[in-house]
Amino acid sequence: MLIDTHAHLDMEQFDGDRRETISRALEAGVGEILNVGYDRSTIDSTLRLADEHGSVWAALGIHPHNASDWDEALEEKLKQLLMRRKVLAVGEIGLDYYRDISPREKQREVFRRQIGIALYFGKPIVVHCRDAFDDVIRILHEEGAPEVGGIFHAFSGGEREAEVVLGLGFLIGIGGPLTYKNSKLPEVAIRLPSSSFVLETDSPYLPPEPYRGKRNEPAYVRIVAGKMAELRGVSVEDIERASETNYRRLLHGEEDFPLSIAYGLKRSVYINVTASCTNDCVFCSRLRTDNYLYGYNLSLIIDPTVEEMVAAANEVIADGDYEEIVFCGYGEPTARMKDLAAAARELRSYGLPMRLNTNGQGNMINRRDIVPELAELFERISISLNAPDAGTYVMVCRPDAGEKAFAAVVDFIGRAASSEMECTVSALDYPEVDIEATRELVESIRGARFRTRKYHLVSPAVS
Ligand code: SF4
Repeated sequence: MLIDTHAHLDMEQFDGDRRETISRALEAGVGEILNVGYDRSTIDSTLRLADEHGSVWAALGIHPHNASDWDEALEEKLKQLLMRRKVLAVGEIGLDYYRDISPREKQREVFRRQIGIALYFGKPIVVHCRDAFDDVIRILHEEGAPEVGGIFHAFSGGEREAEVVLGLGFLIGIGGPLTYKNSKLPEVAIRLPSSSFVLETDSPYLPPEPYRGKRNEPAYVRIVAGKMAELRGVSVEDIERASETNYRRLLHGEEDFPLSIAYGLKRSVYINVTASCTNDCVFCSRLRTDNYLYGYNLSLIIDPTVEEMVAAANEVIADGDYEEIVFCGYGEPTARMKDLAAAARELRSYGLPMRLNTNGQGNMINRRDIVPELAELFERISISLNAPDAGTYVMVCRPDAGEKAFAAVVDFIGRAASSEMECTVSALDYPEVDIEATRELVESIRGARFRTRKYHLVSPAVS
């Protein structure tokens, strides 16, 4: 289901066709809309709308433009309304130094006050931030906002700002500007972990292309989802699942998403073999976040048995149309060589091409050459190298085995590339890595194909 996490359907622009607009959203697959009240009157009209429509929920707060209206009576009213069942968040609140409609000192005071209210009610925050990033972050930190989390609505920053927001544990709201020519948002959007974004329209504002200049409406969140899918090389369903899960976890407090031992992404079935790894890559979210990938909960506490892997894969395959089976994990599958081989043998009966994703340390881990065994099980092998030399490898991949790991991986690549398996070696375009030197090294190995992958941002606070 698609969710529009930011709309203002109570505004006069929708007076002529509000009900039809909500129907069009439902027809477009937008199952929930978070309508945002931002001043003395729209906190009432938002709540009325939410009460009238099952698919509409409310966020209520006082916008920085209206900070000058803040008084005890308004605070009391807001607190009363926040107790209502359909109110999920406090917002939009924040700072706007671009238009400076309320004095900055007052904006900051009202922002702090409302964060305190959100903490008191245990509700997440919808943040409005314009030309005030450093102050917004400082205040969120000082007031303890990470305890409730929230959404940075209409995010327009770069990678640095995105990393800071991720460090706070907030989600990033992506809307229509993603589709604009010359927008810098796509550069950030492709690097966001799939557990860190939600989609929004900000209707009636910021319509996506081709509706720029016209009124925006929640049904158009599908266009944003489509652009996001195109940029990240996944399907719209994958974006839908990711953004809905992120929304449900934050706004509805849902946490009972079942563990996924196998899951479908694009046209591949992935099998989550293990959470243990012999590396600790600086860009890996394995030990740093809760390991949701495109809405799938991959937080393995103990490794699945062979039977569990096979049963989970059977279930996924029965439910879709897939082109390959991939053994992977937030860890190194060859550390479970015996179980990996047993599960792969069972799943060969589907006749689908089989691929192994590995960090290439399998021979070192198993203290023997496992490539001939792998070649009997897998048609394809993808090896992540991520560095052109041992020094960079140690710095970026932080292997348990230290410097000698790099030579072992290069040796493994040589053996895999000269086997029957189609061998792809990848590197993330991480800023510290000389991608061209890595490419040269890989292309000097006969039979190895090189592929660059996009790295995803990890909060600097936790990397
Ligand atoms: S090799 Fe893969 S799973 Fe292991 S730490 Fe690196 S990115 Fe994470």
